[in-house]
Amino acid sequence: MGANNAVVVKGVHYASIRDAARALGLAPSLVEHRCDSICWPRFKWAEDRPDWGFGQAVGKDLIEPRHWSYDGGVRREPVIDPNRDRRVVRYVGWVTCPGCHRHHFSPDVRGVRICAFCGGAGAQPIPRTSGHRQCEEDEDF
Ligand SMILES: [Zn+2]
Repeated sequence: MGANNAVVVKGVHYASIRDAARALGLAPSLVEHRCDSICWPRFKWAEDRPDWGFGQAVGKDLIEPRHWSYDGGVRREPVIDPNRDRRVVRYVGWVTCPGCHRHHFSPDVRGVRICAFCGGAGAQPIPRTSGHRQCEEDEDF
């Protein structure tokens, strides 16, 4: 009761459902029902109704860009955390694996350089073009 049940009816703020019901000549349960119902837009719970914390506790997912096709490692896209003032968490993009010198899509271009093939946290690297296996090094890329 008290502040938790404050309502605004037709622009007038009432400290409780009971107060609103008394002023309007309605049953308290009816006022409560109308505040919950979208059919009664002029009956609203006051702003200071308790926030159960769902929005904060759960949090939103990181805004992660989709993979794009190989571009030579030019493009970098930020991963945004919408819960913390849209802060940039890391950058994704194509990088060259220091182990096999092949290109792979990294979820963190600064922290993840080694591809999945070499045991790193990156993605599967682009396969070498068939024909020149081990003889030619990186000229193909
Ligand atoms: Zn590798």
